[in-house]
Amino acid sequence: MEEQHPIFNEEHLAIRKTIREFVENELAPYADEWEEAGEFPNWVFKRLGELGFLGVHYPEEYGGEGGDYLSGVVLAEEMMRCNSGGVALGVGVLTDMVCPLLHKIGSEDIKQRYLKPSLQGDKIGCLGISEPDAGSDVASIRTTAKQDGDNWIINGQKIFITNGNRADFAIVVARDPESEGSKGVTLFVVDTDTEGFSVSRKLDKVGMRSSDTAELAFQDCVVPDENRLGEVGQGFYSIMWELQPERLYGALSSVAGAQMTLDITIKYLKEREQFGRPIIKFQAVRHRLAELATELEAARQLSYHVASKINKGEFPAKEISMAKYFATRVSFKIADEALQFHGGYGYTTEYPIERIWRDSRLARIGGGTDEIMLEIISRQL
Ligand SMILES: Cc1cc2nc3c(=O)[nH]c(=O)nc-3n(C[C@H](O)[C@H](O)[C@H](O)COP(=O)(O)OP(=O)(O)OC[C@H]3O[C@@H](n4cnc5c(N)ncnc54)[C@H](O)[C@@H]3O)c2cc1C
Repeated sequence: MEEQHPIFNEEHLAIRKTIREFVENELAPYADEWEEAGEFPNWVFKRLGELGFLGVHYPEEYGGEGGDYLSGVVLAEEMMRCNSGGVALGVGVLTDMVCPLLHKIGSEDIKQRYLKPSLQGDKIGCLGISEPDAGSDVASIRTTAKQDGDNWIINGQKIFITNGNRADFAIVVARDPESEGSKGVTLFVVDTDTEGFSVSRKLDKVGMRSSDTAELAFQDCVVPDENRLGEVGQGFYSIMWELQPERLYGALSSVAGAQMTLDITIKYLKEREQFGRPIIKFQAVRHRLAELATELEAARQLSYHVASKINKGEFPAKEISMAKYFATRVSFKIADEALQFHGGYGYTTEYPIERIWRDSRLARIGGGTDEIMLEIISRQL
C-alpha cells in the first residue's frame, strides 16, 4: 500500500491524511453530480489553493508549501479518491503540466503574475500542445508566433486542451513561421481575454466527463514579449522536459486509481454470492485477483522507483516511459477485469466500475500514447 512505502516520510503521511480527508469529505460526494453536468465548478481549484494543496510541492515564495516532489505524488494519488477522474485530471493539468513550466522557465514577472495566483487557486491555466494535425508528432505543430516589435502575433489552433474552456490563461506552443521541426518553437502565456482568442468548441468524450476539454483558436492574438515563456526557439525542449513529470503523474495516478478499483472489486466479490457461496471463494476468481494484484504491485514499485529519482532531480526518460506504459496498461486491465467481476451490475451506471473503466482508458493516450512510450524506450535499448 502507498501509505507504508519507504519513499514516504512522516511529513508525507501527514499531508496524505489531510488531503484524503478533504477529498473524501468535500469532493467525492459531488462526483455523480459533476459527471452528470459534464463539468466541475471552479471553487474546487479555489478550495484546493486555499488549503495549500495546489502548491504542496512548490516554493513558499510563490505561495507554495515548500514540499518536495513526493508531496506532489501524494496529492496526485489522493485526488483519485474524489471518484471522478475528470476532476483529478483538471487539477493535475494545473499542478503538473502548467505550473512546472511556469516555475522552471518563467521569468520572475511571469511567476508573480501566473504561478502565484495558480497555486492559490485564483487563476486556472491550460497547456496547448496538441493540434488537429499534430498529436504524437509535437515537432509538426503549425501554430505560428511572428515577432512584431515588442509583441508576438499568434495564429493557429489547439485541440483536446484540458481546462481550455475555463482557463484564465493558456501556455501555447507556437513556432516561427519560417521554421520547421523542433527548431523555432517558443512558448507563450496567453490570457484568454486577449482579442483573437476563442474556444471553438467543447469536446464530448467517452470518459473523464467532468473535465473540460476544448478546441482553441488563435487569430492574430497580440501577446507582449514579457509573456514569452523561456527562450526564443527553445520551446520544443521545454515541452519534452514537461512531458516527463506529466507522464509519471499519469503512471502514479493510474496505480492509485487501480488500487481503489481492486479494493472495491474484492469487497464486492466477498458480498456477492453465487452457487451458494461468495464469489471470492472460487479459486479461479482468487487466482485472477492475485495476478492483478501482482501486476499492480510491479507497476507501483516501478513508478515509485522513478518518482524517487525525480525527487533527486533526475529525469530518466526511458524509465519514465516504462512506468507510464506499464502502469496505465495495468490500470486499464484492472478496470476491465473489475467490470467483468461485477457481471451485469458492472455494466450499469449504478456501480462505479463503468466510470472507472471509461476514465482509465485515457491514460494510455494522453501525455504520449502507448506506442510513443515504446518508441522512446526502444530508442534507448
Ligand atoms: C481527454 C484528453 C485530454 C487531453 N489534454 C491535453 C492537454 O491538456 N493539452 C494537450 O496539448 N493535449 C492534450 N491531449 C492530447 C493528447 O496528448 C493526444 O491525444 C496524444 O498525444 C495523441 O495524439 P493524437 O490524439 O493526435 O493521436 P495521433 O498522434 O494521431 O496517433 C494516432 C495513433 O497512431 C499512433 N502513432 C502515432 N505515431 C506513431 C509512431 N511513430 N509509431 C507507432 N504508432 C504511432 C498513436 O500511438 C495512436 O495510436 C488530450 C487528449 C485527450 C483525449
